[in-house]
Amino acid sequence: MENKVRCDIVVVGGGLAGMMAGITAAKLGANVKILEQHPVIGAPVKCAEGVTKIGMEEFFLLEFDCPECIAKKIKGFHFVAPNRKRISISGDGYVLNKDIFNQFLAREAEDAGVQVLVGTKAKDFQRKKGGIEIKAVSAAGKLVLAADVVIAADGPVSLTARWAGISKRLEPANTIIGAQVLMEIGESKDFAEFYFGDNIAPKGYAWVFPKEDGMANIGLGITIQEQARKQRTVDEYLNAFVNQKFPNGKIINKIHSIVPVGPFRRIHTANQMIVVGDAGEFVNPVTGGGNRFAMETGAIAGEVAMDAILDRDTSKIGLGAFEMRILEIGNTISRHYKIRMALERFSDDDFNTAISVLKEEKFKNILLPSLLWKLSAKLKKHPALAMKVMRAVM
Ligand SMILES: Cc1cc2nc3c(=O)[nH]c(=O)nc-3n(C[C@H](O)[C@H](O)[C@H](O)COP(=O)(O)OP(=O)(O)OC[C@H]3O[C@@H](n4cnc5c(N)ncnc54)[C@H](O)[C@@H]3O)c2cc1C
Repeated sequence: MENKVRCDIVVVGGGLAGMMAGITAAKLGANVKILEQHPVIGAPVKCAEGVTKIGMEEFFLLEFDCPECIAKKIKGFHFVAPNRKRISISGDGYVLNKDIFNQFLAREAEDAGVQVLVGTKAKDFQRKKGGIEIKAVSAAGKLVLAADVVIAADGPVSLTARWAGISKRLEPANTIIGAQVLMEIGESKDFAEFYFGDNIAPKGYAWVFPKEDGMANIGLGITIQEQARKQRTVDEYLNAFVNQKFPNGKIINKIHSIVPVGPFRRIHTANQMIVVGDAGEFVNPVTGGGNRFAMETGAIAGEVAMDAILDRDTSKIGLGAFEMRILEIGNTISRHYKIRMALERFSDDDFNTAISVLKEEKFKNILLPSLLWKLSAKLKKHPALAMKVMRAVM
């Protein structure tokens, strides 16, 4: 039997983007339903779980609001060159217990009046006059949800974005395939670490994000194109990295997922639809980080959707404020895409030189474009590398 319900907004996907969309719209008075295909919110975690403190404080004072959401407070990042020389950038950050954080957001959503339907997968959609119907399935049977607006928050391979007519090409050169292990490494680190080098992760990087009790997320990402070109899988690269760095570590679990790292896409809205988070490819193309953008774009979509419903115009034009309000995020993505393109041309020698000329300086809370400006000023004896760096920031 098909069960039919009506609401103002259906959010497809119960990750960080979907939860923020739901919380924000519900607090403005919308009747919201969030569909999450998995039976448990936040699981499995497919993320290194790193966030900067500054990024989070815009939404939650996590140390106060949800201390158990934090696995580890970190003091900054180490960047390690192929020759193992490194620089450090200090700045407060967290490695989250992202499943617990996601569940904390789900409770916030429910407190705001959202109905979170777990184990419920959106399968199809149909446009109706002035609205949309989402067809979903759960263990209880089939469900049809009629809504004024659908917010697509269903991650990097978003089906809902395709329904909106928004391309999800996942180009091999602009899609990272990431593999990660949660590992008992038996040491407690205060800094996250990023490792570069053609033998480690060609045109990508490996990471170590420390968690509590000597655990760490250790992962590696390379583009699908690079994996094919080198005829070596991301798993083979990760195994080599882990065996070399943590030969005595114990693997607790392993995950794979993809990250869109392409240029900023200009269109995220269609009639009655807004696409947010990874579904809208709101990811920093250099770092692959998308948690903050997921929360920001989700929150903006929740507000825009509710405004449009109140204005009785949920057409693409009525939802157009979303495209305006994400322009700053778009600029950040565009700037970092350019940097990614330039960094892809770095040889191992380039990374070694860059780290060695920056080594004497102390950096705090510096953003990548500013770091590259500083680097370019120190490369008088390395004009070819200076040109590559200038290309990234000009
Ligand atoms: C290996 C790896 C490491 C990463 N590390 C970091 C990091 O350290 N820091 C950082 O900021 N970012 C990181 N990211 C990126 C970050 O995880 C994402 O940007 C972020 O999770 C995006 O959130 P989201 O809510 O848009 O999508 P998701 O987290 O993918 O959530 C989408 C949700 O939608 C659900 N869903 C999908 N289809 C349907 C459907 N049809 N019906 C119902 N539900 C559906 C999914 O089950 C999922 O719960 C990493 C990514 C990877 C792959």
